[in-house]
Amino acid sequence: MFDIQEIRSQFPILDQEVNGKPLVYLDNAATSQKPNSVLEVWNQYYTEINANVHRGIHTLSQLATEEMELSRRKIQKFINAKHDFEVIFTKGTTEGLNLIAYILTGKLKKDDEIIISYLEHHSNIVPWQLLCERTGAKLRVIPIDDNGILQLDYLDQYLSEKTKVVAVNQVSNALGIVNPIEEIISRTRRNSDAYIVIDGAQSAPHFRIDVQAMDCDFFVFSGHKMYAPMGTGILYGKEHILDSLPPFHGGGEMIATCSFDGTTYAGLPFKYEAGTPNVGGNIALGAAVDFIEKVGHENLQRHENALLEYAQRQLLEIEGLKVYGEKARRTGVVSFNLEGVGISSDVGMILDKMGVAVRTGHHCTQPIMDFFNIAGTVRASFAVYNTFQEIDLLVEGVKKAKRMLS
Ligand SMILES: *Cc1c(COP(=O)(O)O)cnc(C)c1O
Repeated sequence: MFDIQEIRSQFPILDQEVNGKPLVYLDNAATSQKPNSVLEVWNQYYTEINANVHRGIHTLSQLATEEMELSRRKIQKFINAKHDFEVIFTKGTTEGLNLIAYILTGKLKKDDEIIISYLEHHSNIVPWQLLCERTGAKLRVIPIDDNGILQLDYLDQYLSEKTKVVAVNQVSNALGIVNPIEEIISRTRRNSDAYIVIDGAQSAPHFRIDVQAMDCDFFVFSGHKMYAPMGTGILYGKEHILDSLPPFHGGGEMIATCSFDGTTYAGLPFKYEAGTPNVGGNIALGAAVDFIEKVGHENLQRHENALLEYAQRQLLEIEGLKVYGEKARRTGVVSFNLEGVGISSDVGMILDKMGVAVRTGHHCTQPIMDFFNIAGTVRASFAVYNTFQEIDLLVEGVKKAKRMLS
């Protein structure tokens, strides 16, 4: 049973007016709202069990540790990792990608190659550029066509014994395009020994993830885009790969023994979790996973796909409106511009006056904007609590913006 009103009632923030109009929150690809169950777990942590983990003999410390490790196992199941210690808590996708790029430094040398795609978020571009600067490796970029679809012929052409990393997202945040990562991974495995890194920031909130079936080496995502608090995230890595690589941050928690003669490192996952973690947030991320499982992946996807189809169909009826990636397989996002309206933020401001929250601009993906020769787009992005009536309000707002701006 999928009861949208029951789901909405779990998100107190949605029940408010913005600029005198009921809030229509369509900026979920930037961050999603949090259900009561997540807020309660967060609140309960700080009101009842706050204590530092893994060090204490006292009761609260043990309770905090147990709760956080229980959450780790929920996330292990959520992404179908083989072991719970392959699940590393981070503060988000950006930290996860930087961590991977940093620990791979010793594996690359001059003229090695890193393959990414045109559809990447800046956080899956810049860490690799920094890695190239450290090692003399080169970046190669899989191009897109006019629909935003990756041109995999180029991947085949680029793959060689020089390829050390292939890093792509599963779903593009700017356009919502679902990339054929199964195909990308199998072609990569056939033609190189590269490490395969998947940015799952926009797929974990929408799809069932199975890192073992996917056969990626690393998979990263953010908690805050999937109903969990900000400052939470996950880095998954295969056991033998994480074991073979050096630590990232040095500090407490990540050592086995520490002396001035030298330090030995703790095993997984602690080797990559130096310092005091975001315990409350990490526990609340487990509650967000429970929320998604309770709604059910099938319900979630059916509803979100219906919203996307409904939104796209209505928006395309507006003359002069262009949807980017219109013909590509997509999830959760419709990204568009009005003909003759050069500045997407003008549309965003008019929508905001009507209570409709969308994102405008380059969405941390300037190369995509350059490809389409635009400064930005208007992006409406959906979550499980959005309704068809909200899409109607979006469409009405866009029509009004068109009248006012053209
Ligand atoms: C949001 C996002 C990121 C960055 O995530 P943070 O939570 O800001 O660290 C990276 N990649 C994609 C595809 C994203 O949508």
